[in-house]
Amino acid sequence: MEKILIIEDEIDMVRGLKDNLEYEGYKVISAGDGLEGIARTQKEKPDLIILDIMLPKMNGFDVCKELRAKKINIPVLMLTAKGEEVDKVLGLEIGADDYVTKPFSVRELLARVKALLRRTGKPYEQIKSYEFGNVKLDFKKCIATKRKKKIELSYFEVEILKLLIAHKDEPVTREEILDQIWGLEAYPTNRTVDNYVVRLRQKLEDDPKAPEHIVTVHRIGYKFLP
Ligand code: CA
Repeated sequence: MEKILIIEDEIDMVRGLKDNLEYEGYKVISAGDGLEGIARTQKEKPDLIILDIMLPKMNGFDVCKELRAKKINIPVLMLTAKGEEVDKVLGLEIGADDYVTKPFSVRELLARVKALLRRTGKPYEQIKSYEFGNVKLDFKKCIATKRKKKIELSYFEVEILKLLIAHKDEPVTREEILDQIWGLEAYPTNRTVDNYVVRLRQKLEDDPKAPEHIVTVHRIGYKFLP
């Protein structure tokens, strides 16, 4: 049974999440402030952490940073409020794996939890860096270096690249990308994948209109060519 730790001080929120997650078959534990959250993480070694930002004693940003500084790489799903800087949450500085914005639907949260747990330990998640053509990729820092120029990559850009690179020379369908990265129950459409690929080509290809590395496989999806 997979164990989920909820770090949140709002009792009603904890109760609601706990009921729903237990109904889905997870074991659920909770902590009511940031320091207790870190202590429980170390003691209980959960498979996933749901972490609120507004917390007594230590806020969620600092909790996540502290866990990563301790080399604890348990996936973290952050609960954010509207207007909070999502790129910062997912970036290197904080190191969370995904987020949902309050107020969220239970369905959305469960989809994110499932997707994160499924992704953990996937072979493509083990790729930390990669080089091709004149591009060097550092997935831990979410940075590409192209002819010595540093280019920032977003969370989903990194995930798509890792997945395509793990299957290099083979076509990967859009559905597979959605399934692996977002989870089938999440909301993005096939068009979402195309939009990310366009951005990746603009960042990494010499001629984004005639890509040599992230190529389209007609009627199927995409293929990475080293
Ligand atoms: Ca809170």
